Amino acid sequence: MKSRDRINGGSGGHGGAAAKKTVIVTTSWDDGHRDDLKVAELLTARKLPGTFYVTSGGLGESSRLSAGDLRNLAAAGFEIGGHTVSHPVLTEIGTDRVRREVVGCKAELEAILARELVSFAYPKGKFNAAVVTEVKQAGFRCARGVRMLSFACSFPPFEMPVTIQAHPHGWPAYCRNLIKRGEILALAKSSIMIGRSANWVELGKALFDCALREGGAWHLVGHSWETEKQNGWAELQEMLDYVSGRPGVRYLTNGELGKLVASTRQARPT
Ligand SMILES: [Zn+2]
Repeated sequence: MKSRDRINGGSGGHGGAAAKKTVIVTTSWDDGHRDDLKVAELLTARKLPGTFYVTSGGLGESSRLSAGDLRNLAAAGFEIGGHTVSHPVLTEIGTDRVRREVVGCKAELEAILARELVSFAYPKGKFNAAVVTEVKQAGFRCARGVRMLSFACSFPPFEMPVTIQAHPHGWPAYCRNLIKRGEILALAKSSIMIGRSANWVELGKALFDCALREGGAWHLVGHSWETEKQNGWAELQEMLDYVSGRPGVRYLTNGELGKLVASTRQARPT
């Protein structure tokens, strides 16, 4: 099996037919703004998973989630992940401070939740080898960046990519993201999809259809404060409606996806 980005569904079924492709839906929400509670309501109504990446500094302050909110989200089945103490760009600060930001956040959130934190999101998606080392050493099992337009089911667990952001990115943002990675073929393919899509929801639907067809993980990332600022709740609901309740699709938190990826990478002969 030479599939690079796919994990075969294990359930078999149609004997002799092509192996069933695994399709995964996951969502993540950064920063710990109070509007995350609104996102959680929308996700709950559709039985969708969500990972909320929270900065531990300033919890309970005016626009931020409180410790009680975090406990309620966790009790409702959502995952809480780490997002540093004070949201610095980790590639721009010294190792000692990176460590304090990463370890401090994990300890504070674990004390509130009385459970282990497994997932981390890099502020602004910025990381390098030294940052990854610190995040690993702190005891996180996976970490998410902001590399977009990915369906990968196989990736280094500390470089989890995403598919689409709940944000009206124009063409330039997606193109920059792909050009930075030197993925010209992906750019050509995506350009067609982006060009046909009137807005981010249309693009999100086209990308989800692609994941359904070819297999892959569809990962929606967002900031609830941004959705509120842009009055984008109707679009978000439309997007969530489209991807929820699909037979055969696996709905996973980021941590569950990270665990799955780590286990399949370990199992793969090298
Ligand atoms: Zn952030």
